[in-house]
Amino acid sequence: MDESDQDAVRHVLTQIGALRENGHFIFPSYQHCDTYVSEELIYPDIGKLYLIASFIVKAYHDQEVEVVLSDCDAAYALAQATAYLLSNAGSRTVIAVCAERDTNYNYSLHSSYARLIAGRRVLVVDGYAENAKCLKRLAKAARSHADVEVVGGAAVIANANVNTDRCELPSLARLLTLQQRAYPKHSCPYCSTKRTIDETVGHGDRYVREHGQP
Ligand SMILES: [Zn+2]
Repeated sequence: MDESDQDAVRHVLTQIGALRENGHFIFPSYQHCDTYVSEELIYPDIGKLYLIASFIVKAYHDQEVEVVLSDCDAAYALAQATAYLLSNAGSRTVIAVCAERDTNYNYSLHSSYARLIAGRRVLVVDGYAENAKCLKRLAKAARSHADVEVVGGAAVIANANVNTDRCELPSLARLLTLQQRAYPKHSCPYCSTKRTIDETVGHGDRYVREHGQP
């Protein structure tokens, strides 16, 4: 993703509230950070979701993708949008299937989807890749089916340490790469400059009830 595409994606994600930057947020771990991702907000505005998916299509339109695979959670909407736009961009129908995740974070496909994916070229997608786990395990599930070739992966937002090696993928499109750094209370640079803690997301409200604003 070149810089202007990253800027365009950042703009859309900020507009729909999925990405908040230059704030002061408290994670459930009670770490402090200036950036907060609300992954669930990537999906509700279908028009914006298709706009986001168009950047995945830009990266993979010439890879002859036949199936887009995601988790069966909200990210399936992203897989469907991507598959639809890939179909429109090429001459073949691209389908979207999803995989169920168990408590050990292993994925498996419904038998109907297993039949659809066999022998196909597969792209795995995720909304917010905080780490490599989801994309890596999705690819593993895809490869467990006969003659599947995983051509690559894509994440709308990915932390900087999520890369092709960690995901065990031949290529990875990160539409927006986050260089997130979290701090404990005592070394938080935003506390030291008395930046107001956002109480609307994460554990901001609980933290402020216990400790007050900086
Ligand atoms: Zn702080």
